[in-house]
Amino acid sequence: MANHWRIYVLILVLFISVFFASKSFTIRQIFSSKPSKPNAQVQTFFGNTGQEVAVHVISGNEKGPTLLIFAGIHGDEAGGYLTADRFTTITVKKGTLIIVPRLNRPAVLKGKRQGLSGDMNRMFHLPENSNSSPDAKVVDLAKSLIKRADYVLNIHQGSGFYSPTWISPKRNPLKWGQCNVIDALIFDLPNGDKLELARFAEKIASRSNARIKDTKFHFQVNNTNTASNTSLHKEQRRSLTYYALYKQHKHALAFEATKNCTLPQAVSFLSIAIHSIMEEVGIQSENLPATDLSVIRNELRDKKINS
Ligand SMILES: [Zn+2]
Repeated sequence: MANHWRIYVLILVLFISVFFASKSFTIRQIFSSKPSKPNAQVQTFFGNTGQEVAVHVISGNEKGPTLLIFAGIHGDEAGGYLTADRFTTITVKKGTLIIVPRLNRPAVLKGKRQGLSGDMNRMFHLPENSNSSPDAKVVDLAKSLIKRADYVLNIHQGSGFYSPTWISPKRNPLKWGQCNVIDALIFDLPNGDKLELARFAEKIASRSNARIKDTKFHFQVNNTNTASNTSLHKEQRRSLTYYALYKQHKHALAFEATKNCTLPQAVSFLSIAIHSIMEEVGIQSENLPATDLSVIRNELRDKKINS
């Protein structure tokens, strides 16, 4: 009889253990931080007009800042739009990315700087609903997207290598390659705060340069000091970043990879720069595109893009 009791007690203990083990597993599952499906949408504007603009919005489950990335405003800068393409398929854990890989589709299709009517990056001074250019409606769309962002980035490829001092005909203050362009060192906001663009651009350049072995491709900060009478680049007063900073008070900058490198190199440099700005502003992703040249070469080969 005593032995039977022992067996009953043992069975009861086993039953209770299994019950609690299964219960605790369920509780663990309930409280686990299993990521739900990330939120990614593509919206197409001006469909079937030849000026289609695809806007990718990728949001994380955790709240964070919004970074807006434009590329393809100039159609002869393939490094820009091919880099932007690579980020449209990532998942974001924290924050939001809005990516417009080809703002100026007619220019991209032609492979030329200009699309339907002149340089789109010289049209941001136009009033909204302007009829002065067939590109104006696309510029208006860009302006409406800028309103939704905390940080605005326009990515390009430029000739030579920017340097704050004259080094050579290829490396000097008038060249654009390998720099983070800002329109002012510091911008005074109407509420008395200061938007410290130079510090922001320097931090991003430092993060990028730590990942670029060859120092001749290091990014420099290029302050075009656009509003100043002594600016070397007064034409930039009609640009996207100038509009974003002066009219909408956003952290706005441009990344320029050099055209004096291979296409996979330009895509690698710009991908590194986007990783860096995402880190700096606190947008997190677990599947950022690789920056190794061999991976990028294979990607371009798969897309049948000559590089
Ligand atoms: Zn450009």
